[in-house]
Amino acid sequence: MSQTKDYSNFELRKKLKALVTQAQNNELKLQKLQRQELALISADSLPELIDIVLQQYRLEYGLDYVSLLLIDADYEIRHVIEFMSPGLLKLPTLIFANSHTTLENVVIAQTQEGKSLSPAVQKTLFPNFKDEPYLGRCSDECKQRLFPSIQKEAASVAIVPLIRNHKLIGSLNLASNESSRFIAGSGTDLIKRLSAILAVCIENAINNEKLKLLGLTDALTGIHNRRYFMQRLEEEVVRGLRQHLPVSCLFIDIDHFKAFNDLYGHAVGDEVLRYVADIIKSQMRMSDVLARYGGEEFSVLLTNTDTHLAQDIAERIRSAIADAVLTVKSLPDDLHVTVSIGCTTMFNTNISNVTFLGETLLNAADHALYASKGAGRNCINVSDFEEIAMAQAAH
Ligand code: GH3
Ligand code: MG
Ligand code: MG
Repeated sequence: MSQTKDYSNFELRKKLKALVTQAQNNELKLQKLQRQELALISADSLPELIDIVLQQYRLEYGLDYVSLLLIDADYEIRHVIEFMSPGLLKLPTLIFANSHTTLENVVIAQTQEGKSLSPAVQKTLFPNFKDEPYLGRCSDECKQRLFPSIQKEAASVAIVPLIRNHKLIGSLNLASNESSRFIAGSGTDLIKRLSAILAVCIENAINNEKLKLLGLTDALTGIHNRRYFMQRLEEEVVRGLRQHLPVSCLFIDIDHFKAFNDLYGHAVGDEVLRYVADIIKSQMRMSDVLARYGGEEFSVLLTNTDTHLAQDIAERIRSAIADAVLTVKSLPDDLHVTVSIGCTTMFNTNISNVTFLGETLLNAADHALYASKGAGRNCINVSDFEEIAMAQAAH
């Protein structure tokens, strides 16, 4: 009798211990989740948010691969990212889908029961999509679409839909080399909670970037405005100083632009501005900064670019514009446009005052531009940075 009692006590204690351990584990998971939620909410830019998702999740949850898919039917998100933080577009783990069907197909291909839908899903999302996370093995299509750069095999995956205002905006995709990591039927409450917060944060971050972009973009040409250029000028001067890299600056001014306005009207003048902006942009590298500095004048910052390369790039821009012809529907004749360019390079300077250096870059490029105008236009001149700095300091 007493033996049975002892035995059941032992069993009870064992069960209790298991329950306590489970409660402790849950507590830890919840704390981790709260930490992640706080990090997401505190991220103050889209790149930071994406870094948390793609890097920190992977490390913190011991995953082998994490990717983020965003649905971007009209290229709006990509357009904003291209302007604000183009480096993000190179990440193989940040994927864009042109329509909902990419994700829909993946999810359907993943799940055998994928075609049996809950009526609520049909009503609020779109046909065939499951709003529940998918946990289980990774099909070829899934690997190809959601984990394109994965080297090893993804033994199990979690595809978590990101839903905002009843709309699917993308998915958070987690992969593990262990087949037991994500198993169909496991609890998904925590990951669903995290993805709900992630969806809100992503939408906010994208909207913020759009707003920022609006304040830093020139409405007529779609390139950056002077405000953005001045911000980047300071950043690039600091970087150039710290890393001992050359920074070049170009000022580009359309020749006899007033004549286009006077002869053909303001609308044609505007078209010439857009046309020139497009040609300059087509000659730029990802790391360069192009802005409409004012009126019919454009400024370019060429990072890690010495004076020879800067002159080559300036020549490419000059000749591309001089060689092209602009056809305007309302005009019988094609238009020929030329630009004058001023160029200067800051390199290995002893001056450390960032504001002064930024001003010198602008003054020196402007000075060289003035020389090009004097030399008959449609040409490039170069100013000596140190010389202009000395003249400026003497004032
Ligand atoms: P230069 O070869 O010496 O540079 O001569 P320019 O005619 O290009 O220069 P000027 O400074 O005399 O004239 C610039 C003109 O650009 C005057 C201004 O009305 C026009 N302009 C400035 N902003 C805009 C704009 O947004 N749209 C249009 N259509 N014209 C503009
Ligand atoms: Mg001009
Ligand atoms: Mg001008």
